[in-house]
Amino acid sequence: MRWTGFYLFTTREVPKDAEVVSHRLMIRAGMTRRVAAGIYNYLPLGWRSLAKLMTIVRRELEVAGCVELSMPAVQPAELWRESGRWSRYGKELLRIRDRHERDFCFGPTHEEVITDQVRHDVKSYRQLPLNLYQIQTKFRDEIRPRFGLMRGREFLMKDAYSFHADVASLDETYEVMGQAYERIFEACQLDFIRVEADSGAIGGSHSHEFMVVAGTGESVVVRCGSCDYAANQERAEAVLSPPRDAESAERPEPEALEDVDTPNQKTVEDVATFLDVSPSQIVKTLIYETDKGLVAVAVRGDREINDVKLGNFLDVEWLEMAGEARVREATGAPVGFAGPVGLGEDIRLIGDYSVRQSVNFVCGANRADGHNRGVNWGRDATPESWVDLLLVEDGDPCPRCGKRLQLSRGIEVGHIFQLGTKYSEPMKCVFSDKEGNSHAMPMGCYGLGIGRTIAAAIEQNHDDKGIIWPLPLAPFEVLVAPLQVDDPEVASTAERIYRELLEKGVDALYDDRDERPGVKFKDADLIGFPLRVVVGSKSLAQGHVEVSMRRGGERQSVAVERAVVHILDLLTVG
Ligand code: ATP
Ligand code: MG
Repeated sequence: MRWTGFYLFTTREVPKDAEVVSHRLMIRAGMTRRVAAGIYNYLPLGWRSLAKLMTIVRRELEVAGCVELSMPAVQPAELWRESGRWSRYGKELLRIRDRHERDFCFGPTHEEVITDQVRHDVKSYRQLPLNLYQIQTKFRDEIRPRFGLMRGREFLMKDAYSFHADVASLDETYEVMGQAYERIFEACQLDFIRVEADSGAIGGSHSHEFMVVAGTGESVVVRCGSCDYAANQERAEAVLSPPRDAESAERPEPEALEDVDTPNQKTVEDVATFLDVSPSQIVKTLIYETDKGLVAVAVRGDREINDVKLGNFLDVEWLEMAGEARVREATGAPVGFAGPVGLGEDIRLIGDYSVRQSVNFVCGANRADGHNRGVNWGRDATPESWVDLLLVEDGDPCPRCGKRLQLSRGIEVGHIFQLGTKYSEPMKCVFSDKEGNSHAMPMGCYGLGIGRTIAAAIEQNHDDKGIIWPLPLAPFEVLVAPLQVDDPEVASTAERIYRELLEKGVDALYDDRDERPGVKFKDADLIGFPLRVVVGSKSLAQGHVEVSMRRGGERQSVAVERAVVHILDLLTVG
């Protein structure tokens, strides 16, 4: 490809909202351009990288036994009503109406459409298992589209769906897909980890996410420094302290329950200082509002609740911290003074494991400016359940080996999930077994963000000059840059090298622009071609061209006739 015949315009203008480096660099390098919030043109240079990733994805999925198809972006509401998601899916679902006033949506995901297809064709266990995938445009009306392709509203996703005759077969495919994902991200030369993820109401650890390690990632990853436990923070299990033996002699005698004045002492720290106790001796009571009513959660004063764990336990559609008015209504006190003792009948009380062993603790007294001390479970208050609801923090013990957990950030690029019969049951996607009995098909689903993976690759591979592409994702592998395009010797040598590279199957771009060397070098660094061949009149007079690598910046003077072989060597080494 010749630069002047291509569509490639680098720019210095970066929109103010480009907060992360991948977003800035993709715009500056002329890979994407914003059309509307979260909606982008993939310009030819950007599209080449996306296409390379898609080729890798397709190659590995075919190895894993997946079959490609393509489903519509616009989906009828009837299918979503059947699965129950038409009413449940929130505002991320872009609902549209056709000229006959019929409801449709722009697909954020395709479980309904694929399940509808498979139930139509597949009737017998003999036709199973099946694993179908597509690479296609999704629309999710994200509340905060940002970071460019990382969190768009319209974006490309590879989504696969598997159908099975039994759970053992689902387990097998799930593992095969996990391995395929590992091969895909390895082939992209990305630094990634596979972590246990939240699987919502379905439960179990049948969901994993693939995280590209990056400080700008929106996900928090919890990893054990000693064993291979890794989970995202939403899912990470907490084990705070070993349960105290209830009968143990060390257990302090229960003190009398007291009601003490704590004027204006609202935060845990305030109360701890005021009453001269440590924050961990305080039981904090948080009031949540949910679609199933008010819930109070008791947790150690110095710790936070994991809303995802709480939502899963309560099996609610939504939850949020109750506002000032609701807290007042429920507890009779302003925010900051709620407590488990004498809490109203119409509010459920759940206890986090972190306070199960607490004795003689301090908590809010459900009145303004008042706290209880000497509080004991059983005698003074009893949660209806004890559950692990804790948000895991850096340094907490590992749930597997007890050593320290470490928190870091990652970009979720892939997500694999065992769905069970969540869709096949309501949508009656059934098969008959050997005996002729009918069953709903257990299903798996497997997502991978195409644009997000490219953005993540840039987050992980750049410097202050621009992108440093991993070779497999680079839009072009080699840039051939003549410095004086009007010097016939320079131009013909550069052109010859370029043509030979093309003949050898190398993906090369020929910078035939009549620009100053400084401009060419700047653009080359910004776009991040892994290899660059510079043909300049001075070195050519000595029979040399200059070959340099973007990563590491290593430069070599190479004899003209050796240039192509040299580049081919460098490309095979990677
Ligand atoms: P997130 O928590 O980041 O919103 P998600 O859990 O909603 O992601 P899935 O429904 O599992 O994502 O989608 C599968 C994959 O699609 C994700 O792993 C991610 O790579 C990609 N993806 C999801 N939402 C977006 C988006 N708004 N923009 C770009 N890629 C996305
Ligand atoms: Mg999402």
